[in-house]
Amino acid sequence: MIYPIYQKGKTSMWFRREKRPKEKIENKKLKIPEGIWVRCKNCKEIIYKKEIERNFDICPKCDHHFYISAKKRLALLYDSGKYQSFDDDLQATDPLKFRDRKKYKDRLKEYALLTGLRDAILSTEGHIGGKKVVICALEFGFMGGSMASVVGEKIVRSTEKCVREKLPFMTISCSGGARMQEGIFSLMQMAKTSGAIGKLNEAGIPFISILTDPTTGGVSASYAMLGDIIISEPKALIGFAGKRVIEQTINQKLPPEFQRAEFLLAHGMIDLIIDRRQLKNILIKLLSFFDISPQEASTAQ
Ligand SMILES: [Zn+2]
Repeated sequence: MIYPIYQKGKTSMWFRREKRPKEKIENKKLKIPEGIWVRCKNCKEIIYKKEIERNFDICPKCDHHFYISAKKRLALLYDSGKYQSFDDDLQATDPLKFRDRKKYKDRLKEYALLTGLRDAILSTEGHIGGKKVVICALEFGFMGGSMASVVGEKIVRSTEKCVREKLPFMTISCSGGARMQEGIFSLMQMAKTSGAIGKLNEAGIPFISILTDPTTGGVSASYAMLGDIIISEPKALIGFAGKRVIEQTINQKLPPEFQRAEFLLAHGMIDLIIDRRQLKNILIKLLSFFDISPQEASTAQ
Protein backbone atom coordinates (compact mmCIF):
# COMPACT_ATOMS: atom_id res chain seq x y z
CA MET A 1 0.00 0.00 0.00
CA ILE A 2 1.28 3.46 -0.86
CA TYR A 3 0.91 6.14 1.75
CA PRO A 4 1.05 9.85 0.88
CA ILE A 5 4.18 11.62 2.06
CA TYR A 6 3.80 15.14 3.29
CA GLN A 7 6.63 17.27 1.94
CA LYS A 8 7.62 20.45 3.65
CA GLY A 9 6.84 23.56 1.63
CA LYS A 10 4.54 21.75 -0.78
CA THR A 11 0.82 21.51 -0.45
CA SER A 12 -0.16 17.93 0.02
CA MET A 13 -2.79 16.70 -2.40
CA TRP A 14 -4.31 14.63 0.37
CA PHE A 15 -4.81 17.27 2.99
CA ARG A 16 -6.18 20.72 2.63
CA ARG A 17 -5.89 23.16 5.45
CA GLU A 18 -8.89 25.30 5.61
CA LYS A 19 -9.24 28.14 7.99
CA ARG A 20 -12.59 27.96 9.61
CA PRO A 21 -14.03 29.78 12.56
CA LYS A 22 -13.25 27.97 15.83
CA GLU A 23 -16.89 27.82 16.80
CA LYS A 24 -17.78 25.88 13.68
CA ILE A 25 -15.10 23.25 14.30
CA GLU A 26 -16.29 22.75 17.88
CA ASN A 27 -19.85 22.31 16.69
CA LYS A 28 -18.76 19.65 14.23
CA LYS A 29 -16.81 17.80 16.91
CA LEU A 30 -19.88 17.69 19.12
CA LYS A 31 -21.83 15.86 16.44
CA ILE A 32 -19.43 12.88 16.47
CA PRO A 33 -19.82 10.93 19.69
CA GLU A 34 -16.49 9.83 21.13
CA GLY A 35 -15.36 6.22 21.25
CA ILE A 36 -17.63 4.76 18.61
CA TRP A 37 -14.82 2.76 17.08
CA VAL A 38 -12.15 0.74 18.83
CA ARG A 39 -8.90 -0.57 17.39
CA CYS A 40 -8.27 -4.15 18.52
CA LYS A 41 -4.86 -4.43 20.20
CA ASN A 42 -4.36 -7.90 18.78
CA CYS A 43 -5.57 -7.91 15.15
CA LYS A 44 -5.47 -4.08 14.67
CA GLU A 45 -8.93 -4.15 13.07
CA ILE A 46 -11.14 -1.15 13.68
CA ILE A 47 -14.40 -2.39 15.12
CA TYR A 48 -17.69 -0.78 16.09
CA LYS A 49 -17.56 -0.45 19.89
CA LYS A 50 -21.14 -1.61 20.39
CA GLU A 51 -20.40 -4.76 18.41
CA ILE A 52 -17.59 -5.56 20.87
CA GLU A 53 -19.82 -4.81 23.85
CA ARG A 54 -22.55 -7.08 22.51
CA ASN A 55 -19.91 -9.80 22.19
CA PHE A 56 -18.94 -9.82 25.93
CA ASP A 57 -16.14 -7.31 25.16
CA ILE A 58 -14.43 -9.82 22.90
CA CYS A 59 -13.08 -8.88 19.46
CA PRO A 60 -15.44 -10.45 16.86
CA LYS A 61 -12.53 -10.82 14.40
CA CYS A 62 -9.82 -12.47 16.53
CA ASP A 63 -11.44 -13.31 19.90
CA HIS A 64 -9.13 -10.97 21.79
CA HIS A 65 -10.56 -10.46 25.29
CA PHE A 66 -10.69 -6.77 26.11
CA TYR A 67 -10.27 -5.58 29.70
CA ILE A 68 -13.53 -5.17 31.60
CA SER A 69 -14.16 -3.80 35.08
CA ALA A 70 -14.84 -6.01 38.10
CA LYS A 71 -18.46 -4.84 38.23
CA LYS A 72 -19.01 -5.79 34.60
CA ARG A 73 -17.44 -9.22 35.12
CA LEU A 74 -19.68 -9.90 38.11
CA ALA A 75 -22.76 -8.79 36.20
CA LEU A 76 -21.86 -11.25 33.41
CA LEU A 77 -21.59 -14.17 35.82
CA TYR A 78 -24.39 -13.70 38.34
CA ASP A 79 -27.95 -14.68 37.41
CA SER A 80 -29.74 -11.67 35.86
CA GLY A 81 -26.56 -9.69 36.61
CA LYS A 82 -27.73 -9.22 40.20
CA TYR A 83 -25.53 -9.50 43.29
CA GLN A 84 -24.97 -7.91 46.68
CA SER A 85 -21.65 -6.55 47.85
CA PHE A 86 -20.50 -6.63 51.48
CA ASP A 87 -17.66 -5.17 53.59
CA ASP A 88 -17.81 -2.10 51.35
CA ASP A 89 -16.83 0.21 54.20
CA LEU A 90 -13.33 -1.22 54.74
CA GLN A 91 -10.69 1.38 54.00
CA ALA A 92 -6.88 1.48 54.01
CA THR A 93 -5.27 3.34 56.93
CA ASP A 94 -1.88 4.21 55.38
CA PRO A 95 0.20 2.60 58.17
CA LEU A 96 3.55 3.73 56.69
CA LYS A 97 2.44 7.31 55.94
CA PHE A 98 3.76 6.52 52.48
CA ARG A 99 4.53 9.15 49.93
CA ASP A 100 6.08 8.91 46.46
CA ARG A 101 5.15 11.56 43.90
CA LYS A 102 1.86 11.83 45.76
CA LYS A 103 0.68 10.92 49.23
CA TYR A 104 -0.76 7.40 49.40
CA LYS A 105 -3.84 8.84 51.12
CA ASP A 106 -4.42 11.18 48.17
CA ARG A 107 -3.98 8.34 45.71
CA LEU A 108 -6.61 6.31 47.56
CA LYS A 109 -9.07 9.22 47.36
CA GLU A 110 -8.32 9.70 43.66
CA TYR A 111 -8.98 6.05 42.78
CA ALA A 112 -12.05 5.93 45.00
CA LEU A 113 -13.52 8.76 42.93
CA LEU A 114 -12.51 7.05 39.70
CA THR A 115 -13.92 3.61 40.47
CA GLY A 116 -16.56 4.22 43.15
CA LEU A 117 -14.77 1.66 45.37
CA ARG A 118 -12.82 2.14 48.61
CA ASP A 119 -10.14 -0.35 47.62
CA ALA A 120 -9.21 -2.64 44.73
CA ILE A 121 -11.70 -5.41 45.53
CA LEU A 122 -15.40 -6.19 45.55
CA SER A 123 -16.73 -8.89 47.89
CA THR A 124 -20.06 -10.11 46.60
CA GLU A 125 -22.71 -12.78 47.02
CA GLY A 126 -25.40 -13.90 44.63
CA HIS A 127 -26.58 -16.85 42.55
CA ILE A 128 -25.02 -18.57 39.56
CA GLY A 129 -27.32 -21.10 37.89
CA GLY A 130 -29.53 -20.86 40.97
CA LYS A 131 -26.71 -21.77 43.39
CA LYS A 132 -25.57 -19.24 45.98
CA VAL A 133 -21.88 -18.32 45.80
CA VAL A 134 -19.43 -15.73 47.12
CA ILE A 135 -17.13 -14.01 44.62
CA CYS A 136 -14.25 -11.63 45.35
CA ALA A 137 -13.26 -9.66 42.25
CA LEU A 138 -10.20 -7.43 41.94
CA GLU A 139 -10.65 -4.09 40.19
CA PHE A 140 -7.61 -3.30 38.02
CA GLY A 141 -8.76 0.30 37.70
CA PHE A 142 -8.01 0.83 41.39
CA MET A 143 -4.20 1.07 41.65
CA GLY A 144 -3.69 -1.83 39.23
CA GLY A 145 -5.81 -4.22 41.29
CA SER A 146 -2.96 -4.30 43.80
CA MET A 147 -3.24 -6.37 46.98
CA ALA A 148 -2.83 -4.56 50.29
CA SER A 149 -4.42 -4.81 53.76
CA VAL A 150 -8.02 -4.21 52.64
CA VAL A 151 -7.86 -6.70 49.76
CA GLY A 152 -6.40 -9.36 52.08
CA GLU A 153 -8.92 -8.68 54.82
CA LYS A 154 -11.89 -8.79 52.46
CA ILE A 155 -10.76 -12.10 50.97
CA VAL A 156 -10.35 -13.59 54.46
CA ARG A 157 -13.76 -12.32 55.61
CA SER A 158 -15.34 -13.78 52.46
CA THR A 159 -13.75 -17.18 53.05
CA GLU A 160 -14.96 -17.12 56.65
CA LYS A 161 -18.46 -16.36 55.42
CA CYS A 162 -18.21 -19.33 53.02
CA VAL A 163 -17.17 -21.67 55.85
CA ARG A 164 -19.95 -20.34 58.10
CA GLU A 165 -22.69 -20.51 55.48
CA LYS A 166 -21.35 -23.48 53.46
CA LEU A 167 -21.05 -21.55 50.22
CA PRO A 168 -18.63 -22.14 47.32
CA PHE A 169 -15.92 -19.47 47.03
CA MET A 170 -14.64 -17.85 43.84
CA THR A 171 -12.15 -15.13 43.04
CA ILE A 172 -11.63 -13.16 39.85
CA SER A 173 -8.07 -11.86 39.75
CA CYS A 174 -6.75 -8.95 37.70
CA SER A 175 -3.73 -7.53 39.43
CA GLY A 176 -0.21 -6.23 39.14
CA GLY A 177 0.66 -7.79 42.51
CA ALA A 178 1.24 -6.53 46.04
CA ARG A 179 0.81 -2.77 46.65
CA MET A 180 4.15 -1.15 47.36
CA GLN A 181 2.59 1.75 49.27
CA GLU A 182 1.82 -0.56 52.18
CA GLY A 183 5.19 -2.35 52.02
CA ILE A 184 5.43 -5.38 54.30
CA PHE A 185 1.73 -5.11 55.17
CA SER A 186 0.93 -5.90 51.53
CA LEU A 187 3.37 -8.81 51.43
CA MET A 188 1.81 -10.26 54.59
CA GLN A 189 -1.51 -10.58 52.74
CA MET A 190 0.04 -13.39 50.68
CA ALA A 191 0.37 -15.55 53.82
CA LYS A 192 -2.92 -14.32 55.26
CA THR A 193 -5.01 -15.15 52.16
CA SER A 194 -3.19 -18.48 51.63
CA GLY A 195 -3.98 -19.44 55.22
CA ALA A 196 -7.64 -18.57 54.67
CA ILE A 197 -7.77 -20.80 51.56
CA GLY A 198 -6.25 -23.59 53.66
CA LYS A 199 -9.15 -23.25 56.11
CA LEU A 200 -11.63 -23.45 53.21
CA ASN A 201 -9.97 -26.67 52.19
CA GLU A 202 -10.21 -28.11 55.71
CA ALA A 203 -13.92 -27.26 55.77
CA GLY A 204 -14.48 -28.96 52.40
CA ILE A 205 -15.54 -25.75 50.66
CA PRO A 206 -14.71 -25.60 46.93
CA PHE A 207 -12.64 -22.68 45.68
CA ILE A 208 -12.63 -21.71 42.00
CA SER A 209 -9.99 -19.18 41.01
CA ILE A 210 -10.50 -17.25 37.77
CA LEU A 211 -7.44 -15.51 36.33
CA THR A 212 -7.68 -12.67 33.85
CA ASP A 213 -5.13 -10.54 32.04
CA PRO A 214 -2.93 -9.73 33.98
CA THR A 215 -2.57 -11.79 37.17
CA THR A 216 0.94 -11.19 38.38
CA GLY A 217 3.17 -10.65 41.42
CA GLY A 218 1.91 -11.35 44.93
CA VAL A 219 -1.61 -12.26 43.79
CA SER A 220 -0.37 -15.03 41.48
CA ALA A 221 2.04 -16.10 44.23
CA SER A 222 -0.71 -16.59 46.79
CA TYR A 223 -4.46 -17.30 46.76
CA ALA A 224 -4.98 -17.00 42.98
CA MET A 225 -2.95 -20.15 42.30
CA LEU A 226 -4.49 -22.13 45.16
CA GLY A 227 -7.87 -22.83 43.56
CA ASP A 228 -9.30 -26.35 43.52
CA ILE A 229 -9.97 -25.40 39.92
CA ILE A 230 -7.91 -22.64 38.29
CA ILE A 231 -9.51 -21.13 35.18
CA SER A 232 -7.93 -18.51 32.95
CA GLU A 233 -9.15 -16.31 30.13
CA PRO A 234 -7.36 -16.94 26.80
CA LYS A 235 -3.89 -15.42 26.42
CA ALA A 236 -3.94 -13.87 29.91
CA LEU A 237 -0.56 -12.88 31.34
CA ILE A 238 0.01 -14.92 34.49
CA GLY A 239 3.27 -14.94 36.38
CA PHE A 240 5.25 -13.76 39.37
CA ALA A 241 8.29 -11.76 38.22
CA GLY A 242 8.46 -10.10 34.79
CA LYS A 243 9.88 -12.03 31.85
CA ARG A 244 12.89 -9.71 31.43
CA VAL A 245 13.86 -9.99 35.10
CA ILE A 246 13.80 -13.79 34.89
CA GLU A 247 15.82 -13.78 31.65
CA GLN A 248 18.47 -11.62 33.26
CA THR A 249 18.55 -13.75 36.42
CA ILE A 250 18.87 -17.16 34.75
CA ASN A 251 20.77 -15.77 31.77
CA GLN A 252 18.59 -17.63 29.27
CA LYS A 253 16.11 -16.64 26.59
CA LEU A 254 12.54 -17.61 27.42
CA PRO A 255 9.98 -18.82 24.85
CA PRO A 256 7.69 -16.13 23.37
CA GLU A 257 4.51 -17.57 24.93
CA PHE A 258 6.11 -17.78 28.39
CA GLN A 259 3.73 -16.65 31.18
CA ARG A 260 0.68 -16.77 28.92
CA ALA A 261 -2.34 -18.88 29.91
CA GLU A 262 -1.76 -21.41 27.09
CA PHE A 263 1.85 -21.98 28.20
CA LEU A 264 0.75 -22.45 31.81
CA LEU A 265 -1.97 -24.92 30.80
CA ALA A 266 0.51 -26.97 28.77
CA HIS A 267 2.80 -27.10 31.84
CA GLY A 268 0.10 -28.04 34.34
CA MET A 269 -0.06 -24.77 36.24
CA ILE A 270 -3.73 -24.10 35.49
CA ASP A 271 -6.69 -26.38 34.76
CA LEU A 272 -8.78 -24.69 32.09
CA ILE A 273 -8.76 -21.85 29.58
CA ILE A 274 -12.30 -20.66 29.04
CA ASP A 275 -13.64 -18.11 26.62
CA ARG A 276 -15.51 -15.34 28.47
CA ARG A 277 -18.71 -16.19 26.56
CA GLN A 278 -18.63 -19.77 27.92
CA LEU A 279 -17.47 -19.01 31.46
CA LYS A 280 -20.87 -18.86 33.16
CA ASN A 281 -21.99 -22.21 31.67
CA ILE A 282 -18.76 -23.87 32.77
CA LEU A 283 -19.11 -22.43 36.27
CA ILE A 284 -22.65 -23.79 36.53
CA LYS A 285 -21.33 -27.25 35.60
CA LEU A 286 -18.46 -27.00 38.09
CA LEU A 287 -20.76 -25.80 40.86
CA SER A 288 -23.10 -28.74 40.38
CA PHE A 289 -20.06 -31.07 40.31
CA PHE A 290 -18.83 -29.62 43.63
CA ASP A 291 -22.35 -29.34 44.98
CA ILE A 292 -22.23 -28.66 48.71
CA SER A 293 -25.75 -28.48 49.94
CA PRO A 294 -25.79 -27.67 53.70
CA GLN A 295 -26.52 -31.31 54.70
CA GLU A 296 -23.64 -32.72 52.66
CA ALA A 297 -21.12 -30.22 54.00
CA SER A 298 -22.09 -30.83 57.63
CA THR A 299 -21.77 -34.61 57.28
CA ALA A 300 -18.39 -34.20 55.56
CA GLN A 301 -16.97 -32.36 58.57
ZN1 LIG B 1 -9.09 -8.43 17.17
